[in-house]
Amino acid sequence: MSGIDVFEALRAASRTDRRSPIVCERFDDLGADGEPCRLGIMGGTFDPIHNGHLACAEQVREAFDLDAIVFIPTGSPVFKRDQRIAPARERLAMCRAATADNLHFDVSDMEIARGGDTYTIDTLRTLRSHYPDNVELFFIAGSDAIASVSKWKDSDEMGCLARFIAVERPGSELSLTQREAIVKGAPNIDLLFVTIEALAISSSELRARLVAGKSIRYLTPQVVVDHLMEHGFYREEAVSHD
Ligand code: ATP
Ligand code: MG
Repeated sequence: MSGIDVFEALRAASRTDRRSPIVCERFDDLGADGEPCRLGIMGGTFDPIHNGHLACAEQVREAFDLDAIVFIPTGSPVFKRDQRIAPARERLAMCRAATADNLHFDVSDMEIARGGDTYTIDTLRTLRSHYPDNVELFFIAGSDAIASVSKWKDSDEMGCLARFIAVERPGSELSLTQREAIVKGAPNIDLLFVTIEALAISSSELRARLVAGKSIRYLTPQVVVDHLMEHGFYREEAVSHD
C-alpha cells in the first residue's frame, strides 16, 4: 500500500467507526468527566427558527449558568396537528445553520427521527437515560406553554427527569397569583421563572412576511434568510410533515 492508500484506508476506517450521536454532535459526551454540569433543552417547532429563539436561549443560558443548550425541533407537534408546517428536514437544517456559530448551542434530530406524535416525556426519558446523573436537565419553554404543563403527557414523571424554566417576556409576565396557580397545579415539577429581554419576533410573523413577499432580514440569522430565499417553501402551498 502506498502512503496515500494507507491514509485513505485510515480515513475510511475512522468514518465507519464513528458512533452516530444519540443526542447531538457537540454534547453527546457531556458530563463524561464526572463534573456537575447543566444542559438546557429548547423545544419548539422552529418553523422557522428566529432571533427571538436564539436570544431567549442565550439569556436563559446566562441566567442559569447552563453549560450547553440543545435545540430539539419537534417532529409532529400534537398541538399543531391541524396546522401546516414546513418539512422537518428543512426546519432542522435551518436550526443547525442558525446555531452553528455558538459553541454552547447544538441541535438534535431526536424528535424528528423518532416519528409519530411528539411528546416531551419521551425526549426527557431519552436524555435522562443517555446522560450520567451529574448532568442536570433544564427544559426551557415560554411561560404560556408552561402554564398547561400539568396537562402534558406523564407530567409527574417529567418532574423527576428535569427542572422546568418558564420564560417570561416583558409585557407578558405572569402575575404572582398566576405563577402560584401554575406551581400549585404541577406540585411534582420544579418550576423556575425568568424574565428575559424580549425580541418581539415569532415564526408566524416571519411566515406571514414571506407570504407577503416582505423582507425578513435581521429577524433571523442571514443563513436562515438565504435558506428560505433558496427553497421558498413558505411561499408555496405544498407544505408537509416529511
Ligand atoms: P409560532 O409563531 O409558529 O407559534 P414561535 O415563534 O412561537 O412560533 P415556537 O417554535 O412555537 O416559535 O417556539 C419555541 C419556543 O420559543 C417556545 O418556548 C416559545 O415560547 C419560545 N419563543 C418563541 N418566540 C420567542 C421570542 N420572540 N422570544 C423568546 N422566546 C420565544
Ligand atoms: Mg408559538
